[in-house]
Amino acid sequence: AQDADNVLVAEGLTKVFAGFAAVKDVNLAVRRGSIHALIGPNGAGKTTCFNLLTKTLAPTSGKIVFDGEDISSLRTSQVARRGLVRSFQISATFPNLTARENVRVALQSSYGTAYQFWRSLRAVAPLNSRADELLEQVGLANSRDTPAAELSYGKKRALEIATTLALEPRVMLLDEPTAGMGHEDIEPITDLIRRAAVGRTVLLVEHNLSVVSTLCDKITVLQHGQVLAEGNYAEVSNNPAVVTAYMGG
Ligand code: ADP
Repeated sequence: AQDADNVLVAEGLTKVFAGFAAVKDVNLAVRRGSIHALIGPNGAGKTTCFNLLTKTLAPTSGKIVFDGEDISSLRTSQVARRGLVRSFQISATFPNLTARENVRVALQSSYGTAYQFWRSLRAVAPLNSRADELLEQVGLANSRDTPAAELSYGKKRALEIATTLALEPRVMLLDEPTAGMGHEDIEPITDLIRRAAVGRTVLLVEHNLSVVSTLCDKITVLQHGQVLAEGNYAEVSNNPAVVTAYMGG
């Protein structure tokens, strides 16, 4: 029953860089339908964990199971096709293309041969209407025809989520979605993530603890590459080891 509840499970995940263990024997279970955060001080191993889970990095040892399937030996593109998708970075959007065109490019890459078929029928309308739906969902309906380069920082991050949603992720990994944002952008992006999480699972690395407390069902705290604590926000924030880690003690 536990395996069916958890969509993404890592067991004994370890990554050693030139003798230094950035991630050490990490066990992680991400519950289906949850919003789960990875937090921890700088250098704790959060990014390395993300890279291992999306197969951007090969683990030194350990196992990763996605939806009951051992994905340890699969490539990033293979896990993405199965629905485990990491958000695009701003640097992956095309600055001269409009918001809508950027989402269409992502839709085209995910539809693959089905898109080739549509194009052969000159039926571009379904792509545009799906792109518009996604733009609406992330609050960019009014910026549809704006080149990505001209969007505000907050809107660029929203576009990044729209292009990720175009790939129909079942588990979406977001790397610091509020990083570098001012107050005025944080609430809209938090709402957007909450809406995007309906019917799917979200795993995020996030530094802003107030975002974590309002958004996340479960939190895994990493320190020195290991799991220091796990639980809901009240549990981890009252954990003395976590308090000490965050005070730098
Ligand atoms: P976080 O995302 O929590 O800040 P990282 O996963 O980026 O932590 O890094 C964890 C540790 O691993 C850090 O000490 C970092 O210097 C080290 N590290 C990360 N990537 C590499 C690499 N490619 N080569 C060597 N050391 C690395």
